[in-house]
Amino acid sequence: MKITKDTVVVMDYELRLDESDEVIDSSDDGTFAFLVGHENIVPGLEAELLGLTSGASKKVAVTAAEGYGERDESKVMAVPRSVFPEDFYFEVGIPVELEDDQGESFPVWIQGVKDDHVELDGNHPLAGETLNFTIKVLEVRAATTEELAHGHVHGAGDHHHH
Ligand code: ZN
Repeated sequence: MKITKDTVVVMDYELRLDESDEVIDSSDDGTFAFLVGHENIVPGLEAELLGLTSGASKKVAVTAAEGYGERDESKVMAVPRSVFPEDFYFEVGIPVELEDDQGESFPVWIQGVKDDHVELDGNHPLAGETLNFTIKVLEVRAATTEELAHGHVHGAGDHHHH
């Protein structure tokens, strides 16, 4: 079976950035499963996987624009600490959801915590980076009706199981 929209792909991957050979992210236990065509992985990687079959290996360089976007310094902000609940546990590097004026939520990453304000960055930590993936396709299968309804994979390798 070829990788197309609405198939489930199980793959092994390693992610490196331009500057180093260091693996900064990889599949847990050598397998990562996702549903194709539902915005579960960066678009630049998904596009390069279409048409591959089980057993295929590939190196894919994803530009920032097709990955986590270019860095936008206007998305770096400081908000009063009072915006957060009093018992909020701040951890640098962790994403939190904020709401805009229209009630739409968007993720920001905590950069620093000061006495009276919190420094936030609306850029993904990998924004502006070229992502160098090395992938191996382990399995391609049709998605279940339930998986299609949820927009993500269920079962082994599911990172968002509920
Ligand atoms: Zn689900």
